[in-house]
Amino acid sequence: MKIKECLSLGVACLKEVTQIPQKETMLLLGELLGKEMSWIVSHGDDDISLNEWFYSALKRRANHEPLEYILGRASFYDREFDVDSRVLIPRPETEILVDKALELAKCLSKEAHIVEIGCGSGIVSIMLALMLPHIKITAVDLSSDALHVSQKNALKHGVYERIGFVQGSYLDGVNEPIDMIVSNPPYIAKDEPLGKGLAFEPSLALFGGFKGDEMLRHIIDLFMGQKVKMLVCEMGYDQKLPLQEYCIQHGLNPTFYKDLAGLDRGFFIQEKQ
Ligand code: GLN
Repeated sequence: MKIKECLSLGVACLKEVTQIPQKETMLLLGELLGKEMSWIVSHGDDDISLNEWFYSALKRRANHEPLEYILGRASFYDREFDVDSRVLIPRPETEILVDKALELAKCLSKEAHIVEIGCGSGIVSIMLALMLPHIKITAVDLSSDALHVSQKNALKHGVYERIGFVQGSYLDGVNEPIDMIVSNPPYIAKDEPLGKGLAFEPSLALFGGFKGDEMLRHIIDLFMGQKVKMLVCEMGYDQKLPLQEYCIQHGLNPTFYKDLAGLDRGFFIQEKQ
């Protein structure tokens, strides 16, 4: 079949599922052929044979499975991370969480200790390790499956030795003093109707409780209880008011930030010690 015919086939299969069916088909074809998208664009008349993998990939995508799980990778910042259904797919807005943590880390000593609660695929801890070469980082996750993925990613990006991986809930198993907590915890409310793609992601990484912000509140409690200097968290678009109220009740002064869509997406707190 000619490449341009494969593209039409892909577009026909995927047009109900994505707004970019042509690009997604090219990514799948690129994976099949081991070629860049630019090569595919300029070889429309080449004949290729499609295989079982390609047909099954199209079928999975047509069934709303995220492309990242099918390809087994996702990009975050300018890097590529391994992902599969054991971990949440990196979201572009989480790059802002890393930016905020990096900004705040400028006020920490070079050998400070940052702990990430719920590291998932490891994107946040790994980016911090890459960009803060002296800082000690501990990445905690409840899921041993997720830790498996994050460790693989840390190895891939050359920072495995720099990060202490701990299986546990919140800060369980972290015994050294902490200077900063960073977290993108599950924050979706239990009954929130979700898009079809989210059904493929681990519910452990998505649902934060009945209202959704319960885990965030618990993280704020831990931040206060352990006298940590800084806290940076991602949160749901509708959680600013309740979390602001909770912080103010506890004498904290959070700063909230928005994502690129202009939605409230996170906050940070810097404590005067
Ligand atoms: N940002 C994700 C979403 O809304 C949720 C991630 C999370 O719960 N931490 O799809």
